[in-house]
Amino acid sequence: MHPALREEMIQVFTEFYDGQYYVLGKSVEQFETEYAAYNKVKHCVGVSNGLDAIYLSLKALGIGPGDEVIVPSNTFIASVLAVSYTGAKPIFVEPNELTYNIDPKEIQKAITPHTKAIIPVHLYGQAAEMPEIMAIAQENGLWVVEDNAQAHGAVFDGKITGSFGHLNATSFYPGKNLGALGDAGAVTTDSLEFYDNIKSLRNYGSRVKYHNSEIGHNMRLDELQAGILSLKLQHLNDWTVKRQQIANWYLANLKDCNSIHLPYTHPQASHVYHLFVIRSQRRDELQEYLRQNEIGTLIHYPIPPHLQEAYRGLGYQQGDFPIAENLAKTALSLPIWPGMTEEMVEVICGYIRKFQDS
Ligand SMILES: *Cc1c(COP(=O)(O)O)cnc(C)c1O
Repeated sequence: MHPALREEMIQVFTEFYDGQYYVLGKSVEQFETEYAAYNKVKHCVGVSNGLDAIYLSLKALGIGPGDEVIVPSNTFIASVLAVSYTGAKPIFVEPNELTYNIDPKEIQKAITPHTKAIIPVHLYGQAAEMPEIMAIAQENGLWVVEDNAQAHGAVFDGKITGSFGHLNATSFYPGKNLGALGDAGAVTTDSLEFYDNIKSLRNYGSRVKYHNSEIGHNMRLDELQAGILSLKLQHLNDWTVKRQQIANWYLANLKDCNSIHLPYTHPQASHVYHLFVIRSQRRDELQEYLRQNEIGTLIHYPIPPHLQEAYRGLGYQQGDFPIAENLAKTALSLPIWPGMTEEMVEVICGYIRKFQDS
């Protein structure tokens, strides 16, 4: 994506450099306005990264020690770390085995008198079942913070991710569908009160310079990153269409490959294919075979959060979340980026078929 944007990117950098205004200036404000509009919400606050976006959202909701927050058992560690930062306890809930997104029926079972919030994650780029999750939250008086780091532009029932929850966090880490040239993130919301609170929390708990009304943080979005993001946002929908096209090539090419489990999209959801994740019972062998043939793949994610050393204190064991554990053993992310050609997809699929027949 970047070679085609080189001149425009350098133009953004030159303006930033000559402008001599590096923190919380007009580029951040402009990007916040643009991203709120893209995400069909009233407000956006640019922040330092996705983890901080989730953390600041939970903090604005007043979540802290003694509270429980529901998170998927198969998410990236950041969704869970943000809960830990507040002092609350993460409660893991298994995903649907087809979509890999948090299962609303399982959420219901995990609710206790201590539950305060749910963090659905639109994993791999597919929108989670938000209408049902919002209904469960409403019935039980819970907050919802979407983790939209992987699904910029995805929709469920025609409504865009990052616009369902009371607060919605996203990441613009370079590898995301919309990525900065460094760390960046945002919180989106329709609530003026939460917007105002997070704006203060990201900047030392200050609304007026040197007047601090609460114990805040330095979790701001950089001017330079905001300028780059405004430029790249103009291309996001085109890139999404390309990702979907590439995914369709893979799906068509591998549909008869019966040792491979292909991604499934819920009929009401769209998928923006941040990742194209297949499953194989011989995953490690397949990954090694592809590596030998110069095809790079990754595993998202090899260890579920409840089995991470960092969370040993929670006392979970192997077998506690079998769906997440099985995904960790079988999932493999194939190459996908907006510049990929059909020929590249054919070559990769050719090796996968050859592996299957071997
Ligand atoms: C990338 C990611 C994050 C964290 O974003 P950073 O900007 O790297 O802090 C959180 N949740 C999910 C699901 C992610 O993929």
